[in-house]
Amino acid sequence: MFKKIIKLFRAKRAPRTIILRTEGTHYHLKEIYARINQQYFEGKLDLHITWFNPKKSRYQRRIVLGSYHRDKKLVKINRILDQPDIPDYYISFIVYHEMLHHIAPPILQKFRRRQIHHRQFKDLEKQFQEYALVKEFRKKSKMRWFVD
Ligand SMILES: [Zn+2]
Repeated sequence: MFKKIIKLFRAKRAPRTIILRTEGTHYHLKEIYARINQQYFEGKLDLHITWFNPKKSRYQRRIVLGSYHRDKKLVKINRILDQPDIPDYYISFIVYHEMLHHIAPPILQKFRRRQIHHRQFKDLEKQFQEYALVKEFRKKSKMRWFVD
């Protein structure tokens, strides 16, 4: 009985439309996505990608650079990466990381806990060609950036 009510409620809801913004002033997300897809996934992934604008809070300690939304098959990349100071390999790695979430889903653990960046995931991350450079850039930039 309860389940039926939920279904009706859901059916009534209008589907949300998402506007995808892929062009930037310095980087074009569609190009990066297509290149990574070819190079690492045989062009087989069929995901959406978009920029998102960073939140304007000054007190934000950690800046999320990217995220993956499984239900929408959507990769979101923070627009702060759309600048010449950001090396191409770095933004490409962030896109690669988010795409990996599609092929390496979270592992369910005890008590409904989910492990997102599990060992298999991290091994795949290391297959990125310029992984050493990415790590170096991360250290140098000293920003509290992280990837979701
Ligand atoms: Zn992640």
